[in-house]
Amino acid sequence: MPANPFNTPPPYEGGCACGAVRYRIEAETIGSRVCHCRICQKAMASPFLAVASFPKKAVTVTGETARWRSSERLWRHFCPKCGSSVTLEPLDGDRLGFPLATLDDPQSINPEMHIWVSAKVPWLMLSDGLPQYPEGSPEPYRTA
Ligand SMILES: [Zn+2]
Ligand SMILES: [Zn+2]
Repeated sequence: MPANPFNTPPPYEGGCACGAVRYRIEAETIGSRVCHCRICQKAMASPFLAVASFPKKAVTVTGETARWRSSERLWRHFCPKCGSSVTLEPLDGDRLGFPLATLDDPQSINPEMHIWVSAKVPWLMLSDGLPQYPEGSPEPYRTA
């Protein structure tokens, strides 16, 4: 699956709500997803998480983060001052995920699919025409 054609080209910049943590990304996304799973709902205090992933080597993060391990496969990094979730770090790949809402221009990257829609809140209607999968994505991340 290609990147969403409505994305603007890199670089991308973003950060947490208080500004103590900032990041810069020098590559196109290798996959952008809206996750409706219960862990993302809880971790983001939100009905879903829209997140884009990038090759680790293309990312610079500045400022101190704290982290917790939400599953065997994932660290979630957040700003210890304001609590914003900033980075998702899978243990099984050389990539980092950044919530689209933390981008300085949150419209610059668009989702490509919805995953874990089996846990989607029923009052949220999806009308964007993107593929929907009941659990994880059947498609791997693109190679950079
Ligand atoms: Zn902060
Ligand atoms: Zn999730």
